[in-house]
Amino acid sequence: MQFLYSTNEKPEAYLEGKGNYPDAPKRCPHKGCHMPVRLKKHGFYKRYIILKGLEGYIRIRRYRCPVCGRTVSMLPAFCVPGFQYGTEVIIGITREACRQGNIRRTVREWGQHLRQITRRHLLYYLSRLQRNRRLLQFGINEISPALIRLGAITGDKKWTQSFLEETRCLNPLQFNAEFHRITGKSFMSLYNMVA
Ligand SMILES: [Zn+2]
Repeated sequence: MQFLYSTNEKPEAYLEGKGNYPDAPKRCPHKGCHMPVRLKKHGFYKRYIILKGLEGYIRIRRYRCPVCGRTVSMLPAFCVPGFQYGTEVIIGITREACRQGNIRRTVREWGQHLRQITRRHLLYYLSRLQRNRRLLQFGINEISPALIRLGAITGDKKWTQSFLEETRCLNPLQFNAEFHRITGKSFMSLYNMVA
């Protein structure tokens, strides 16, 4: 199980092994356990991240429930669970692509800071956001009442574009962590929510 946490520490600090880590959860989050015991530190694992002009391995701390033995890991909010590219890259590049309406050009421009980014990545991110529309709308309704009106937009492509424009007023890292806290899922997770 993964959780996201906000941190004031820059990604550079994590790449140098100086990142900060949150306190251990005070209650086990696992189904069928939920014991009110503080989880124990349980080592680290390495995770590769790619941010604008910056990439490498960072250490992610793991915690273990002393009762059920299951683990929890805590990701800093500049990471998106399941993706190597960071939160600001994914939100930034998809927003730019929607605005420009030219995938090739967006990839070329971003490619100056992200050597390996391809059109395939970008198309994949865009289609994931479109498919996740219902989950995303559900989450942002909780985060920002001003964004509830997005729900009225017809057309998933138009919705994704409006969503990305509107989220400019939200800090991407805070949005990432907040969204995960509310829905228990990443904004990029594969999720089919039935209406
Ligand atoms: Zn447990």
